[in-house]
Amino acid sequence: VPLIQLDGVRKRYNVGRPNETEVLHGLSLTLHAGEFAALIGPSGSGKSTLLNIIGLLETMSGGSYRLQGEEVGGLDDAGLTLKRREALGFVFQFHHLLPAFSALENVTLPALMREGRVSRERREHAREVLAAVGLANAMDKRPGELSGGMQQRVAIARALVMRPPVVLADEPTGNLDRASSDEVFALMRRMHAELGTSFLIVTHDPRLAERCDRTIELVDGRIERDDERDAERPS
Ligand code: ADP
Ligand code: ADP
Repeated sequence: VPLIQLDGVRKRYNVGRPNETEVLHGLSLTLHAGEFAALIGPSGSGKSTLLNIIGLLETMSGGSYRLQGEEVGGLDDAGLTLKRREALGFVFQFHHLLPAFSALENVTLPALMREGRVSRERREHAREVLAAVGLANAMDKRPGELSGGMQQRVAIARALVMRPPVVLADEPTGNLDRASSDEVFALMRRMHAELGTSFLIVTHDPRLAERCDRTIELVDGRIERDDERDAERPS
């Protein structure tokens, strides 16, 4: 089954008020395990809204969304939270790391939230993931002591530590200079290659979108272009 399958997804804000607006107009989109895709489009086209719906952070106003084959429209808040924690990793433009905690503590946080404690194995695995993203020597540093690129690498480690099948990244390099952007992007590509994790990356940077395997372009709440839809899928 596809990892993510959206059919006719709509999103309206301020429903029932004079300023009601529909910002996604019946989107259909399928993402398979192991894909590395860019989501592009002008500001206001609905990229964050779509990513938040896929990330179970925002509800749909209509349509169907199956995540790992399961329709999520019927899940209650507790069900959504469970599903979010088991199936999804997140990287945001601003790293959203906890400033008072070390890099290692930030990366053990998903285990703490899911299991209520951080086992020795989880802590060891968090160290391994931090080493894999090149931060073996910075694990005890707080976010404020790290460069922007390093902070994003911690955020990527945190997104990957529970081994979700897919990582959703909203402008993960939007706040970085060109060199750090390239480095963070290369890291996501490497993690995709090594772990097989799918990535869906919102980006404004055409240089980075070009280096993804698939480009999905939103314009005014509709998919204007999708490499996969437009071309025959191999296999
Ligand atoms: P509500 O549940 O009342 O819609 P929100 O916190 O979602 O509360 O939004 C508060 C107000 O700010 C709403 O009027 C909403 O339309 C507006 N708003 C929030 N985020 C955005 C955004 N990204 N773009 C435009 N308007 C927004
Ligand atoms: P993008 O990520 O492509 O810039 P967004 O998904 O943030 O686009 O926004 C799509 C449209 O939805 C915009 O017109 C934005 O103002 C509106 N919007 C986003 N969030 C809210 C909200 N909470 N309330 C009302 N309108 C919103």
